[in-house]
Amino acid sequence: MTFKSCPCGRDLTLKEWLALPLVGEMRLPGEPVLQLRNHSPGCNSTIAIELPARPVARAQTGVTP
Ligand SMILES: [Zn+2]
Repeated sequence: MTFKSCPCGRDLTLKEWLALPLVGEMRLPGEPVLQLRNHSPGCNSTIAIELPARPVARAQTGVTP
């Protein structure tokens, strides 16, 4: 299943996407968070995906019994 298509024409699965080098994340107020990855090895294009508005937050309160 294709997760993301690169402008170079190659289709990436989620697994392939996660294996790409992470460039960073772009956070703009009122906009979805964009995660940027480099299609490398490949065309070296920077590809962005929208992350879910509310990423799964692990409940880490720091309280230990
Ligand atoms: Zn590409």
